Amino acid sequence: MNPKEYHFKLPRTKTPKNITIPEVWYPGVQQMWEKSTSKRIYNPIFGIKAVVIHATAGHSSDGAMSVMRNGRASWHWLVPDENEEAHENLVWACAPETLTAWHVRNSISHPDVNQGKNKTNHWSLGIEIVNSQVQDPFSDWQVKITADIVKYCWAKYPNLEHVLSHAMLDPSRRTDPGILFPWEEFKAQVLDSNFEDMLVFQDDVEAKSKEISELTFEDLHFTDLCS
Ligand SMILES: [Zn+2]
Repeated sequence: MNPKEYHFKLPRTKTPKNITIPEVWYPGVQQMWEKSTSKRIYNPIFGIKAVVIHATAGHSSDGAMSVMRNGRASWHWLVPDENEEAHENLVWACAPETLTAWHVRNSISHPDVNQGKNKTNHWSLGIEIVNSQVQDPFSDWQVKITADIVKYCWAKYPNLEHVLSHAMLDPSRRTDPGILFPWEEFKAQVLDSNFEDMLVFQDDVEAKSKEISELTFEDLHFTDLCS
């Protein structure tokens, strides 16, 4: 499959709201935001329309982050490579979702995506996967966790519709995430709507809401709150 054709749409089905992904801030990344992100020109929840999938064309998370440190580009999540300690454990959160990261050129657009609007960074989230793109297969975990990040976004952003490659948006300059990225498998994992292993504290939430529903009117008086 040609990476320039990597694109699918998310149906507007009901998704669970209490889900999470194993994300941790990349060490020291907060200091990079001032020169590598900007304020979104759209509402940071209702204005999100797309998730763009990238591959770094490099060999390490640290290598990718040096680009962000220099303020040349940025992204919301970085998926570590299979030879890194974080692999199979966590993804690096790199920019706050509420801010615009710089993962796509501002001038480009695609007629099939968000009515051909440009300034994609302002209405999208970007995921970078560490992969050299030279005879470097993606690990099963990299594919799975990338699908999980997309599911997390799907559950969180009510107007999120498009999942696509950087190559589709910028075909004259980019090929990422590349021909070795198993797009059909990835798409199937996202659309299977199985959020089971992403649910957080499900039992706690259920127990707590049962407890609250059993409270009497007197219990709910908060006259004692400040005593
Ligand atoms: Zn890219």
